[in-house]
Amino acid sequence: MMTRRALITGITGQDGSYLAEFLLGKGYEVHGMVRRSSEEKFERIAHIREKVVLHQGDLLDQFSLAALLSQIKPQEVYNLAAQSFVPTSWNQPVLTGEFTALGVTKMLEAIRHTAPETRFYQASSSEMFGRVRETPQSEMTPFYPRSPYGVAKAYGHFITVNYRESFNLFAASGILFNHESPRRGLEFVTRKVTHGVARIRLGLDTTLRLGNLDAQRDWGFAGDYVEAMWLMLQQDKPDDYVVATGETHTVQELVEIAFARADLDWKKHVKIDPAFIRPAEVDLLIGDYAKAKKQLGWEPKVRFKELVEMMVDADIERLKRD
Ligand code: NDP
Ligand code: GDP
Repeated sequence: MMTRRALITGITGQDGSYLAEFLLGKGYEVHGMVRRSSEEKFERIAHIREKVVLHQGDLLDQFSLAALLSQIKPQEVYNLAAQSFVPTSWNQPVLTGEFTALGVTKMLEAIRHTAPETRFYQASSSEMFGRVRETPQSEMTPFYPRSPYGVAKAYGHFITVNYRESFNLFAASGILFNHESPRRGLEFVTRKVTHGVARIRLGLDTTLRLGNLDAQRDWGFAGDYVEAMWLMLQQDKPDDYVVATGETHTVQELVEIAFARADLDWKKHVKIDPAFIRPAEVDLLIGDYAKAKKQLGWEPKVRFKELVEMMVDADIERLKRD
């Protein structure tokens, strides 16, 4: 059997690290595109650093993308790179549009002109649903994004669909609902809470400042979700799929479970800080993953409580070690 080659943009991120592990497990030759920085910080992939091949490139630089495709000749490209944090997208809306929206077109153009047989996965997001129009949200639910990030992701989604239909590319879009892990960035609410709980538990802090506790999200485990990405590229035809757990929980429930795991009373430590309230909020996300279940045979394994407890335990362990 020929070794399959995959190129992952955003390999240093949460999902990139889990996807790289998953593909290595399947026997792939895994290549990752990384941005140059004055200090190499590849903590999430440190444990597999010798097993993957890293290349400098940037989603903003179209020629670097075409050059990488010509050099690596991957059968599969997973476009995970993005400016991925919603609040930052209000502070840097133009940059978010350039990375998260136009970056997708740059990669699709590179594929179209350099290697049109390459299979392409686009990391789309439930943030595209934005304002609640129906629940649960499926592939058929109209988009109404509520942040520059959501708007940019909607562009990325539709340009993926458009290149599939216009140029017959194998381009799939995964509409993934929030997914978390001990490798989640510290500014996202799950990790902010579990890391905050760990610091309070170990006496390093007393207070955790949060924004809207009423927001509801469908939170799954990143390790489960990368398998769905891979499955989308193994089908006969490219398509779009919602990937979710089908359960929704409030930020307050997340807080309650996380503090309880560390035997702490959340009411003594959590303060509401208006600085974390957003200019426009996505109130309720809950995904209908019936299509992914039926066509990909995919289902989430880790459920909400287990996920939060796993993250609290990992943060306590990490802080003790450090
Ligand atoms: P992360 O923020 O953890 O990772 C983002 C990755 O993108 C990092 O590797 C980052 O590199 C890279 N990147 C950013 N800008 C560029 C650029 N201009 N050129 C090259 N690389 C760049 O995100 P996640 O792993 O959580 O998410 C992966 C993808 O899935 C993202 O597109 C995200 O928007 C999307 N998504 C995520 C969801 C989630 O809940 N996690 C839900 C739905 C969609 P660096 O290390 O240099 O910063
Ligand atoms: P998002 O769904 O991609 O924006 O993921 P986040 O983890 O950043 O936010 C999830 C929800 O938690 C949003 O509705 C936020 O308004 C809410 N939230 C409440 N407090 C905070 C906070 O302190 N930080 C973040 N990031 N989100 C918060």
